[in-house]
Amino acid sequence: MSVILGIGSNIGDSKTFIAKAIELINDKFVLLSESSLYETVSLLRDDQRNYYNKVISIECDLSPEKLLQFIKELEVSIGRNKNPLYWGAREIDIDIIDHNGIIIDCDILTVPHKCMNERSFVLIPLKEIDGDYIHPATLESIDSMISQLKDDLNIKIIDSI
Ligand code: AMP
Repeated sequence: MSVILGIGSNIGDSKTFIAKAIELINDKFVLLSESSLYETVSLLRDDQRNYYNKVISIECDLSPEKLLQFIKELEVSIGRNKNPLYWGAREIDIDIIDHNGIIIDCDILTVPHKCMNERSFVLIPLKEIDGDYIHPATLESIDSMISQLKDDLNIKIIDSI
């Protein structure tokens, strides 16, 4: 069992922000696996710069709520500034994609991540690190979820592991 995190950035030196996030996560938890670095266009198709994304898995014994708190503090320490737009550009964004198969739906947290099924920049890197992944709520396989993707974000690997 593991916790899966999605990491993204589209402002400033995104590669460095993502590498820093992984370094700090690795200081506190055990890093189990790490996908290649991917690039996608913005979901909003607006004038935001392309996004860089990675998915990692870690061994983590913090509760989902405590992990969210850790992640929020980490984002600020890496340099995330407040953007008034919900889907605005960001220096670093870390999402809990899956937390040991737990299912949660409350005000501050939905796990597995509510939008994971719709996002190529989550599913494609996730398949790379866990080709047997099954969504704990729908029991869909990673291949089935990928085959239903409609987001067309032109995802490509820019740095292989
Ligand atoms: P962000 O993507 O960083 O702008 O996250 C906005 C808010 O989404 C966070 O403050 C969380 O309260 C909420 N949220 C809900 N589900 C999740 C999840 N699985 N991972 C991370 N944040 C989540």
